[in-house]
Amino acid sequence: MDLWNAATIRDLFARHGFSFSGKLGQNFLVNPSVCPRMAQACGAGPETGVLEIGPGVGVLTVELSKRAKKVVAVEIDRRLKPLLKETLSPYENAEVVFGDVMELELNALLRERFLDCKEVVVCANLPYYITSPILMHLLESRLPVSRVTVMVQKEAAARLCAPVGSRESGAVTAAVNYYARAEKLFSVSAGSFLPPPKVDSAVISLEIREKPPFPVDDEAYFFRMVKAAFAQRRKTLPNALSAGMGLPKAGLNRTLDRCGISPTARAESLSMEALCELANQLKRDQSAGGV
Ligand code: SAM
Repeated sequence: MDLWNAATIRDLFARHGFSFSGKLGQNFLVNPSVCPRMAQACGAGPETGVLEIGPGVGVLTVELSKRAKKVVAVEIDRRLKPLLKETLSPYENAEVVFGDVMELELNALLRERFLDCKEVVVCANLPYYITSPILMHLLESRLPVSRVTVMVQKEAAARLCAPVGSRESGAVTAAVNYYARAEKLFSVSAGSFLPPPKVDSAVISLEIREKPPFPVDDEAYFFRMVKAAFAQRRKTLPNALSAGMGLPKAGLNRTLDRCGISPTARAESLSMEALCELANQLKRDQSAGGV
C-alpha cells in the first residue's frame, strides 16, 4: 500500500470513517522520498530497535520496519487503531502502543521491548504543537538510545541546531546541546504533508553524548539558570538572572566578573562552556552567601 499517496490515505480514511485532528498535529507525509531517507538516516538496521512517536497511518513505520529488527510506535490517537492494524499487517516486527508519549514509562517500555536489540534509536515525524517538550522529555529521561532523528518545523530546526553562543540560540539550544550533538540533515517542504502545515520542515539528528560537553556540578541548577538567562533575551545577564532567579544584581555582577563575563553580555553571546562555568560559579557563590 502506497501510504505516501494522498489518494491511498483518503481511501483509507473514508473506509474507516477517520478525519484529521489538527489539535494532535496530524500532518501526514505524502512525499515518497522522505520516509526512506529518514529511516536510512536514523541508522535502522537488522540489530536495531526503533522507537517511533506518532505513526499516523504508518508511512514511516513501514520504512523503519523494513530495515530494523523491531519498531515500537507510540500513538496517542486510538481512532488510528483499525487503520494501523491494516497498514502494518505485513510487518510482524512493528508494534503500536497507544498512549501519550509524555506520560508513558519510556525507559521501562524500551527495556522490555528492545531486550534483544544491540542499539536503540528514536525516529519520528513529531507533532509540532509539542516538539520541544517531547524532545526534552526524551533527553531528560536518559533513554538508552544513541540517536534521535526527527522532523520538526524549520524554525525549530534552526534553533535546535544553532551553535550555542549565536543569535539563533535559545534555552532549548543549550539544553539539547547538554545531552546531544544536533545537526540539520535536510529540508522538507510544506507540500510534502497532508494537510500541508503553514511552514516548511526539516529533519534533524541528535547524536546522544556519553557525557555532558563540560562539567556541571548541579544539573537542575544549570537548567534553571539557562531558562532564566534566555527568558528575556533582550535583557543583559544581570537583569535576566535577577528577574528569573530572584538574585540581587550586585552579587550577580561579582559572579560574572569572577567568570570573566561582561555585565552587559546577553545569554545568546555565551558559549556552552561559559554557561556551564557560570552555573557552577553562581551555585558556589550562592551557597557561600556571596550573591
Ligand atoms: N508519522 C506520521 C507521518 O509522518 O505521516 C504522522 C506524523 S503527525 C506529524 C504526528 C503524529 O503524532 C500523529 O499521528 C498524532 O496523532 C501523534 N501524536 C500527537 N501527540 C502525541 C502524543 N502526545 N503522544 C503520541 N503521539 C502523538
